[in-house]
Amino acid sequence: MPLDRKKDPSVLSHVFGPVSSKRLGQSLGVDLVPMKSCTWNCVYCQLGRTKRYTTLRREFYPPGEILSEIRQSIESGAHIDWITFVGSGETLLYKGIGHLIEEVKKMTEIPVAVITNGSLFHLAEVRRELMQADAVLPSLNAGSEALYEKIDRPAPGFSFRQHLDGLAQFRKEYKGRLWVEVMLLGGLNDSDEALHELAEAMKQVAPDMVHLVLPTRPAPDQQVTLPGEERIERAVSILSTAAPVMHPVKGRMDLGSAADLLEAVTAIVSRHPVQEKELSIALLARFFGDRAEVERTMKELFASGRFATLEQAGEIFWIPA
Ligand code: SF4
Repeated sequence: MPLDRKKDPSVLSHVFGPVSSKRLGQSLGVDLVPMKSCTWNCVYCQLGRTKRYTTLRREFYPPGEILSEIRQSIESGAHIDWITFVGSGETLLYKGIGHLIEEVKKMTEIPVAVITNGSLFHLAEVRRELMQADAVLPSLNAGSEALYEKIDRPAPGFSFRQHLDGLAQFRKEYKGRLWVEVMLLGGLNDSDEALHELAEAMKQVAPDMVHLVLPTRPAPDQQVTLPGEERIERAVSILSTAAPVMHPVKGRMDLGSAADLLEAVTAIVSRHPVQEKELSIALLARFFGDRAEVERTMKELFASGRFATLEQAGEIFWIPA
C-alpha cells in the first residue's frame, strides 16, 4: 500500500517527505514507478483503479536521477528515521531496486524499508534484490484463493498459492525484519472464518510482525467499509496466533519517543494494568521489530523492581509492585 505523498511544492520528482508514519517514524519516501503501475487492482486502493496491469519489471527511471534526489534529501539535514522505497503502484516492478538499496547503504546508515504488495516474490531475482533492505513490508490480505481474487484482484496469471509460496520462500532467505501488512475490510476479510484462514496462511510466512491497517482513505470501490470495533479486536486476537499484531487504532502505547523508558512505563502501569503483550508490541515498534532488544529491555524494566505480574483469563498483566 502506498505512503501518503504530501502536497508540497518543494517535493522532488521521486523523493517525498520525510512524512510522519505510524510504523516508520519520519519516513523519506522514494517513489520508483509511474502512477498506478501495478500487478494488482485492490478494492481499497487509494490511487484509484488499475486501468492496465503492469507485470513486466523495468528500470522506469535512471538510477542516478533517483540516487541524486535521495542524497539531496539526506544532505538537507531533515530528521529521517527510514528511507522507504514505495511506489505509486507496485514498488518491485522497478528492475534494479537492489542496486538502489546498495547505493543508499553506501551513502548513509539510515535504515531502508521497502513497501510492496509481495506479488513478485515468486521470482528469485526479486527476492535477491531485497536482501540488503532492513525491513520489507509486503501485503497478505486473504487466506484463500477466492478472497484473494476478490480483494487484491490480481493480473491474469497471478494466484494466491503463488503469492503465499513467494512470501514463505522470501521469509526463508531474508534475514531482515519482515512486517506483513493486512488491510482489514468490513464484510470482506473480517469474519472469523476469513481471519482463521488468514492466520493459517500467516503461519506459513512467519513474519516478525503483522501490521493491521484499516481502509481510512477514500477508495473508488463501494465494497470498501471500515470493520467494526469488535471485528478489529477479533482480528488482533486471531492473527496474534501467527505473530505479534500491531493494533490499527488504539491500545498501542506510544513508547517511540520516550526519553526515559523506565519512567514512561512506570507512569502508564501506575494508571492501569498493562497487558504484557501490549507492552512488547509497543517496544517492538520502538526498536523497529528487533525482538532480542525487546526481550532484553523487558527483562531490564522488570528487574527495576517497580512492577509485578498478574495473570487473568490467560493473559499476563503488568501492575505496580
Ligand atoms: S497493491 Fe493494491 S493498494 Fe497497492 S498500488 Fe497496487 S492496487 Fe493499489
